[in-house]
Amino acid sequence: TLRSFVDKNVYDWSSEEEETDGRARPVQVLVVKDDHTFELDEAALCKILLAEEVRDREVVAISVAGAFRKGKSFLMDFMLRYMYSQASDEWLGDPDEPLTGFSWRGGSERETTGIQIWSQVFLVDKPDGSKVAVLLMDTQGTFDSQSTLRDSATVFALSTMISSMQVYNISQNVQEDDLQHLQLFTEYGRLAMEETFLKPFQSMIFLVRDWSFPYEFPYGQEGGMKFLEKRLKVKNQHEELQNVRKHIHSCFTNISCFLMPHPGLKVATNPHFDGRLKEIDQEFINNLQVLVLWLLCPKNLDVKEINGSKITCRGLLEYFKAYIKIYQG
Ligand code: GDP
Ligand code: MG
Repeated sequence: TLRSFVDKNVYDWSSEEEETDGRARPVQVLVVKDDHTFELDEAALCKILLAEEVRDREVVAISVAGAFRKGKSFLMDFMLRYMYSQASDEWLGDPDEPLTGFSWRGGSERETTGIQIWSQVFLVDKPDGSKVAVLLMDTQGTFDSQSTLRDSATVFALSTMISSMQVYNISQNVQEDDLQHLQLFTEYGRLAMEETFLKPFQSMIFLVRDWSFPYEFPYGQEGGMKFLEKRLKVKNQHEELQNVRKHIHSCFTNISCFLMPHPGLKVATNPHFDGRLKEIDQEFINNLQVLVLWLLCPKNLDVKEINGSKITCRGLLEYFKAYIKIYQG
């Protein structure tokens, strides 16, 4: 069953620090330290990306990025469930099953600005007969002061350069400062890419959590696209605002948006909530199913391309190292 499969394969995140009985777990591959320097755990990254079954496969790298405590890891754990269920219709699983995977619970534990990667890279058969390697990344920033904003921008830029799909997780609405952050992030990314490559980024998905105006723009992707079009439209705005919008349009091959409902008060406020479906609002679950399928169903998995060439896991490792060097100056 799914349950025993997950029990066998998914590591209990609370003991994340310990190396390992071979079960999959989140691995911190990039850390921003207190003195604002970056540390890449090259050995850990090599172990994941150079594993024999995956290293020569073309890679689909999916990243979720944004501020702390906005439900990113919670979402990623559902993405993991989908990946482990091998796209079965029953992927959501048992209503009483607690959620495991990336560390997602609220509370006071220290959070790290950086990038975590799920140690297991998934092999997926696409409808066109190709087999791709799917890598999941959880990226976090602090955004609370100028200095940490710069750190976060670098982390965001790196994860955007490395991924084929960047999910920008934001709360409630697309605010002007979300767009300004995004401009800063992509500016960093572009500066770095200029030294090496032409076309900067692939897909950007604005994921708006706790959307509360479904009567204006309905939940889901279509409502999201209409909302985003309106939000990003360059009209008679102040020049600075126009520039932010032009810049964002010029950076990504695909831009889309998905509006998610609020998951309900148990998820948002109950400290003992353990992720079981039974306690999540049905409206959220319905949209979660649509979202995860849209992001991860085999036919929608786009291989990472740089300069028009498809990249393998081994190739991605080289780019990762090269990009980090640029930021380390
Ligand atoms: P992360 O720091 O962005 O990875 O956030 P987490 O996934 O750790 O979630 C932080 C808190 O937000 C947890 O208490 C979750 O139960 C809760 N949460 C998860 N998803 C949502 C959501 O869509 N809306 C709200 N309001 N809370 C959420
Ligand atoms: Mg998290």
